[in-house]
Amino acid sequence: MDDICCRLFAWYDMHKRDLPWRSTRNPYYIWISEVILQQTRVAQGYAYFVRFIALFPTVEALADAPEDAVMRAWQGLGYYSRARNLHAAAKQIVKLGRFPDTYEAIRQLKGVGDYTAAAIASFAFDEPKAAVDGNVCRVWSRVFGIDCPIDSVRGKRVVAEIAQELLPDSQAAKYNQAVMEFGALQCTPHSPSCVDCPLADKCVALAEGKVDMLPSKSHKTKVIPRYLTYLYMHNAGSLLLHKRTGNDIWQNLYELPLIETDVAIDADKLFLHPDFLAWKKIVPHYTYKGFTGGIKHVLSHRVLHATFHELEVWGELSCPDGYVMVPFSELSHYALPRLVERYMQEKSGQW
Ligand code: SF4
Repeated sequence: MDDICCRLFAWYDMHKRDLPWRSTRNPYYIWISEVILQQTRVAQGYAYFVRFIALFPTVEALADAPEDAVMRAWQGLGYYSRARNLHAAAKQIVKLGRFPDTYEAIRQLKGVGDYTAAAIASFAFDEPKAAVDGNVCRVWSRVFGIDCPIDSVRGKRVVAEIAQELLPDSQAAKYNQAVMEFGALQCTPHSPSCVDCPLADKCVALAEGKVDMLPSKSHKTKVIPRYLTYLYMHNAGSLLLHKRTGNDIWQNLYELPLIETDVAIDADKLFLHPDFLAWKKIVPHYTYKGFTGGIKHVLSHRVLHATFHELEVWGELSCPDGYVMVPFSELSHYALPRLVERYMQEKSGQW
């Protein structure tokens, strides 16, 4: 085995965290944990993993579950398209009759990319396939001093080739786990522990004073602001919700009636907005209770500036298509975007 791998394995044996998905060969558990961990830290991901597996203990249970239940279980993790893909891929697996057991076959599942397929294939089936995530990119970029951007096609290819070349065929699972753990705990994005690093004498970035510069990126993601004005409309102990459709964020999640604008608007501008005037035709009798909160919510490509206005509706409310009146006591059955959930929690303990 390569000297770098020997040192890495020795480090891993001493420092690895005891995580539930490390001690299993069940491809379903590994798959769920990998998708959850792509979007959250281990501490928070652990709780989601345990809850998700308790709700959907097998791939068949996940495939059979209503989509609303899956979205509800995913609530708070963000990237809801991943939950939808998990659900669709579970149905694919059930149709196949068994969990696919090669990298190529796993890669055919909906929403499964190179990294996740390699992780499942190596952890569950010992296939000698290097899994390359952000941690792995960082470690090898620094150790080998790769300065072409890791978000470029060439940069990704170079790192993937090095990762694959270093992989000892008979210990793919341990190798992949070790590099990822090393990136998460030792060779961290900021302030890596170079002083006690077992690879320090091999590390080009350290020798050349480039640790802070690697891995390099070609361009930064452009972050677009969005301005969301929500109407918290309630009537006789029930709240009006809307199920989002279309190809936007939060597809199939429930949210409050929304008016989206190009810039932030205050109550005066809200009252003159055509969408608000349209609501007044549907809900002619209400008491405006005021502006009841503002939340800034940061996603990977968007910054959402949300404001909330409360309206108490009088008399019968006939819901337009796609809307539903939900008793406060039943709100916990509905999957809400984290932003709306935060507002509800901050507003009161009504549910
Ligand atoms: S010496 Fe520092 S930068 Fe290099 S691999 Fe070790 S922790 Fe990472």
